[in-house]
Amino acid sequence: MIMTNGIKVKRNGFGTPLHPFQIISWVVATFHLFLSSIVIVTMLDITPRIIFGVGFFTSKAFLIILAYKATKSDPTDLWPNQHKEIVSSGTQITQNCEAFCTICNCYVNPKSKHCSRCNRCVDNFDHHCKWLNNCIGKRNYKLFISLIISLEINLSILLAFSIFLIDEYYNNYDEFHKRATEKFDFCDPIIVLIWIIAITSGISFIADTYLICLHIYLKKLGMTTFDYILHKQSQAENKNKRNAFRERGVVTPDENLEVPAAKPRNIGKLSTPYPDTGGVNTPGVLDLHFDETELRYSRNTSLAHLA
Ligand SMILES: [Zn+2]
Ligand SMILES: [Zn+2]
Repeated sequence: MIMTNGIKVKRNGFGTPLHPFQIISWVVATFHLFLSSIVIVTMLDITPRIIFGVGFFTSKAFLIILAYKATKSDPTDLWPNQHKEIVSSGTQITQNCEAFCTICNCYVNPKSKHCSRCNRCVDNFDHHCKWLNNCIGKRNYKLFISLIISLEINLSILLAFSIFLIDEYYNNYDEFHKRATEKFDFCDPIIVLIWIIAITSGISFIADTYLICLHIYLKKLGMTTFDYILHKQSQAENKNKRNAFRERGVVTPDENLEVPAAKPRNIGKLSTPYPDTGGVNTPGVLDLHFDETELRYSRNTSLAHLA
């Protein structure tokens, strides 16, 4: 933990406090590795055992390395350090400094946003990952994508072979029972353990698939996760606003008028420095205006409430 301007700054995911989700992910990963090594490997015949062993343990090794690197990575905005001299000289401030963070108390990259959990500005902020206890931004986004793809491969192998053994238990019980009693002296606890592996890996697989699909979708839209969250929130607020008007019997100029959702490209767009934001981080402040008569409203929010 580093102190900047009297604020505790977390540079990577190993900084304290650790997040409970981060600890859960370590426990589940260790649980899968331990049980798979004992139960799945032992219960498989020689050929599927080799296929499982190579696929599962290779992908697990990649997964552990990538998880360590992603947790250890530091996505902090380097702009303040790189432009320290320009800022201190004051000669090119208007030209080069478009955004000022009132928490870090320095000029930052215009695409940066301040993470309230880590207390630092992150270049091209995507989201704060609770599972890694670290921010995801420009400097570690590729690492994060590699990690979730690697996780997907690892979980799909584990899930497939768990289902294979469960299928064998119900359709070829004699063979399963014979092998289980030969190796472990008991049978029923083994199928319970395999069911636990299948359920936990299945849930994780579904969640990770959703995450990968979301990032493919966001890539197509050219949005970050943070942009997407703000976009969804503004859509929900628009809907509530419209419903509130209708409940009060207020007729809009055109009943068919749809309140425009905030355009993705405008969300999170930084404006010139806000000199008076009451300590709220300037880069995270949004000012969304919809100019349609009564439906006009503005919204200021900061990442501190969203991360
Ligand atoms: Zn900041
Ligand atoms: Zn963070």
